[in-house]
Amino acid sequence: MTTKKVLILGINGFIGNQLTQSILKNTAWEIIGIDLQNNKLQHSINHPRLHFKIGDITKNTAWVNAQIDACDVVLPLAAIATPAIYITDPLRIFTLDFEANLAIVRACVAAKKRLIFPSTSEVYGMCQDAEFDEEESNLVLGPINKERWIYACSKQMLDRVIYAYGKHQDLKYTLFRPFNWIGPTQDDIHNLPTGGVRVVTQFISNIIYGKDLQLVDGGEQRRSFTYIADGISALMKIIENKDGCADSKIFNIGNPTNNASIKEIAEKILAIAKNHPQTKDRAKNIKIVNTNSSQYYGKGYQDMQNRVPAIKRAQEILGWQPTTTLDQALKLTADYYFKDAGL
Ligand code: NAD
Repeated sequence: MTTKKVLILGINGFIGNQLTQSILKNTAWEIIGIDLQNNKLQHSINHPRLHFKIGDITKNTAWVNAQIDACDVVLPLAAIATPAIYITDPLRIFTLDFEANLAIVRACVAAKKRLIFPSTSEVYGMCQDAEFDEEESNLVLGPINKERWIYACSKQMLDRVIYAYGKHQDLKYTLFRPFNWIGPTQDDIHNLPTGGVRVVTQFISNIIYGKDLQLVDGGEQRRSFTYIADGISALMKIIENKDGCADSKIFNIGNPTNNASIKEIAEKILAIAKNHPQTKDRAKNIKIVNTNSSQYYGKGYQDMQNRVPAIKRAQEILGWQPTTTLDQALKLTADYYFKDAGL
């Protein structure tokens, strides 16, 4: 593997901190990173190949642009990816996820730097395909008064802009679409408002705090849950980019065999808690209850019933295969959070 300088914006996040660990462990690459916080980076903060700055990408723009000039590849991971906020504060999604990231895309074009951008499984929206294909599936969003779609719409527009810059101004890029990556360090789960984090960490948080698990609209919605280590191994292959294989490509990064309803996820997490020596007593009193989406998220909510990634491109082009089962992924995640909470 050749040496690379990798710039990670939002490096303290779920994907950023785990990617940092993997790069430092498995390669000789250097990392430059910025984030508002550093609490999840304690494992790497003193590593000689990590150059970290506490900062805000919307304020430290001169620093960010200088790092784009100095690096080989840019991963802009700073964004808000929590559904509740799409509805309570849609303009924050627009200004950070769209506007701030558009500025980064343009800086990569100007500096002629390779861009690896996180799109999302949300861009497929309410597409009815049995499996979502990167180049064939329609991207189907709801009406404007369903504010939930501002995240998918922001990401989709950036996908289109990046694609166009690639075609017309030679931007070297790869888009990756995570399908519900889960695992340790996903979210901070203590003292949250309802719906404050993503679903698996929300259920684990409820168990830790002895609250019932709430199923929005019956929890019949299905997702394909992907363990973070599998996602990171795909990202490592994308960054490595052997013989340019990832250039100008879009990859779904998800685990189609880990497709389950939110209700099944709640049942599995509660069962893990009932079998765990430190949580079994409190889990006995926790119930799975129903709520409706307008009560839980507000009227701006709308949902997709199922999403399954087609991963043949990632399998064939990157030589990647997810290997962690849903039960393993949930157990590893729950065990991490129970331990982190001192249980
Ligand atoms: P995350 O919320 O865990 O991490 C985002 C990080 O960005 C946080 O550490 C946050 O502090 C930082 N940040 C926010 N605003 C910033 C700013 N102004 N300046 C500097 N740093 C800032 O999110 P994640 O799960 O690591 O996701 C990373 C990217 O992948 C996002 O673009 C997200 O939309 C996308 N994505 C993630 C998933 C998933 O399953 N985790 C799914 C689809 C898409």
